[in-house]
Amino acid sequence: MTSSPDPLRFDPLDRDLILSGLETRWLGRNLRLYNQVSSTNDIARSLAQRGERGIVILAETQSKGRGRLSRSWESPRGGIWMSLILQPYIPLDLACRINMAVCVAACRAISCLLDLDTGIKWPNDLIIKGRKVGGILMEICADGQRLDYAIVGLGINSNIDPSAFPEDWMATSLSHELGSEISRSALIQRTLLEIERAYEVMGSDEIYDEWRRRSVTIGRMVRIASNKGELVGEVEDLADDGAILLRTSGKLVRVLAGDCVHLRRMVGL
Ligand code: ADP
Repeated sequence: MTSSPDPLRFDPLDRDLILSGLETRWLGRNLRLYNQVSSTNDIARSLAQRGERGIVILAETQSKGRGRLSRSWESPRGGIWMSLILQPYIPLDLACRINMAVCVAACRAISCLLDLDTGIKWPNDLIIKGRKVGGILMEICADGQRLDYAIVGLGINSNIDPSAFPEDWMATSLSHELGSEISRSALIQRTLLEIERAYEVMGSDEIYDEWRRRSVTIGRMVRIASNKGELVGEVEDLADDGAILLRTSGKLVRVLAGDCVHLRRMVGL
């Protein structure tokens, strides 16, 4: 018997409850739940080095949660902080497809389970009504041109009061958007199922098309800091290798990785 908790009802994180309603074939069948960790990605990395794959690490809080470029990610109690260890047999230059698949999967889970329209700010933020509700941090280990394994950290502000965060982060949470707390167990179950499904077809147009469709960055004026320096321009499109295509000073420039700030739309323009 599987059990799926009511998505709109708070529940404490409980490993047995999550496992009892988990519909995945392999992802998260091995699940570890911690009260507090430095970061779930750190725990995942040490397990990956010992050969673990498919395992999911969950924690109630992280004392040193990370975003990209070692920026800190606040991880108070009430959120979903989890990491997965994946081992796709793909060349290194397709690794961005993992990020794409997980972004799409997390959006599908939140949108379908909670009826909240969720978008993606390039390259890895989850957005509801223009505010950041979560993020994905992928760290890879490569052996030459071959991807050995990927650690994917996923943070979702679920039952959190976002007013505790600085306003300039433009953060939100699921409970704030819905006006009620949610069942993290139900969302974890659904998210893992959607990740498993998306991961298995991550090279397909289906995932790329939905990644573009859910993008809140296409069409925006942005400022991007990358190894090409700082660029300001309008985002024309996203390429299937994860790159952003930016129209700047009349030229179309491809940027594969960088920091992206959405600039305010100007009235009359
Ligand atoms: P970016 O969103 O610019 O890509 P990162 O993915 O590196 O940034 O995430 C780190 C940044 O996100 C922090 O510098 C902070 O501004 C913001 N942040 C940290 N914790 C949270 C959180 N729980 N919810 C929303 N934003 C957060």
